[in-house]
Amino acid sequence: MTGKGSAKAYMGLGANLGDRRANILSAIGCLRALPGIAVLRAASLYESAPVGFIDQPRFVNTVIEVTTDLSPFDLLAAVQRVERDLGRVRTVRWGPRTIDIDILLYDDVTMDDPALTIPHPRMAERAFVLVPLAELVPDRLLNGRTVRDLAAAARSRADVEILTPAAEVIPG
Ligand code: ADP
Ligand code: MG
Repeated sequence: MTGKGSAKAYMGLGANLGDRRANILSAIGCLRALPGIAVLRAASLYESAPVGFIDQPRFVNTVIEVTTDLSPFDLLAAVQRVERDLGRVRTVRWGPRTIDIDILLYDDVTMDDPALTIPHPRMAERAFVLVPLAELVPDRLLNGRTVRDLAAAARSRADVEILTPAAEVIPG
């Protein structure tokens, strides 16, 4: 593994327990340390109201751009190890978590396996994914619409505020 990577992928990170910002930054640090992954860019950190199971703390979210020489399934295994290392305990689905890392996009791959669906099936509706993703790839198309347009539409319906600008997420 060179870590230089042949595929470009986008991953969504979210946390709503403990020091949420620190959990996101630690997860990015752990991913950067993995041999098969290089983190190229991160969006700003955003705070948003929970979706689905709404009786839980507000989330901090961001999206990162990576290159990787891991296959999609190996990338999933790697991010799940990082989730475990950071002390994520799976209790309620869509419930509170110290860290959640989802694979959003992996090159132009589409796959629909019970363990791994790419593009992530709910990303096109989620403001907390689209708003940070739009900082990185505004012109990318999802279901025939640009990420910029999807993000603007989602943001008008949801409560998403910027918390930490991108330049402070991956300094230098
Ligand atoms: P969620 O992210 O939906 O809140 P979890 O993080 O607990 O919930 O993920 C549940 C399962 O989703 C994981 O065991 C994983 O196998 C599956 N999964 C399917 N597609 C993806 C994807 N694109 N990225 C991450 N996990 C995925
Ligand atoms: Mg997840």
